[in-house]
Amino acid sequence: MQYLVGVDIGGTHVRTCIAPLENLTKNIIIKKKEPTSKTDEMSLGKQIVRMISSLLTQNHLKKTEIVSINIATAGPLDAKKGIIFNNANLGFKTIPVKDQINQEFPEIPCNMINDANGAVLGVHYFEALENEKDNLVYITMSTGIGGGVIANGHLVLGKDGNAAEVGHGTISDSETPCSCGTTGCWEAYSAGSGLSKQIQASGQKWSNKELYEKAKEGDPIAQKIVDQATHYSTIGIGLINNFYDPEAIYIGGAITNNSDLFLPVIKENFEKHPIKFTINRVPTIKLTQLGDEIGLLGALALGKYILNKNKILL
Ligand SMILES: [Zn+2]
Repeated sequence: MQYLVGVDIGGTHVRTCIAPLENLTKNIIIKKKEPTSKTDEMSLGKQIVRMISSLLTQNHLKKTEIVSINIATAGPLDAKKGIIFNNANLGFKTIPVKDQINQEFPEIPCNMINDANGAVLGVHYFEALENEKDNLVYITMSTGIGGGVIANGHLVLGKDGNAAEVGHGTISDSETPCSCGTTGCWEAYSAGSGLSKQIQASGQKWSNKELYEKAKEGDPIAQKIVDQATHYSTIGIGLINNFYDPEAIYIGGAITNNSDLFLPVIKENFEKHPIKFTINRVPTIKLTQLGDEIGLLGALALGKYILNKNKILL
């Protein structure tokens, strides 16, 4: 049989999986998850090689049965060189990944994609409705905020593969610092890292989880932070709609575990005052059902689309 390998590199965890090339479904059976290795620049590549090798051994699979290794990673990355660079969470200026995988698996093509760009492929393959597929956006709201865009039936990648870094769009002229080094980014208000900073600035010592609990209880400070995050998310989503004119925007990531506190408000903002936030027709906004395996599913979809020369990647 023929199989695809999927890899998802995040700031906290690395996930690997093996899935059949035909009958690819969103239920991944062979998989492995470990904390991301950050010992030195080379340790992440070594870890991925080890994880793939052990999945092959445990499941009695041969290297010759693997048609490609597909990596979705936190960025920025240089997809052609196969390196990750300037990633604050991974800890090193440059992390070479592809070279080490090519050394261990020289016969197997290795593909790399920015995780949010991969995720939109996952939504496209496993989840989106037929009428949504050609103009589709995925937004991840987790520690940071990232985006993936399909416009006119094509994935938007950019020169190095880092297009749609929507979380670092400047949406406020305040001095609120962002993890990227500048100020006023959407991420600095509405992502997990941004919420933590806002909690700190308010003089509280809550975790993000406690923030949401306090907001649900009606604590005014917590509500103000959540309301501010929601306000800036409405602006961010409105800008994405202005730039790409998508039919549907899917949202995922850890922050959406508490989406009942903000998603209805965002939808209401667009219903009641659309022109305040976007000049274009309002898209469908919904939560992805692909959960925390969306990175792996995106990597698998990338592998599938490369093999069948899907026009989405042209
Ligand atoms: Zn930023």
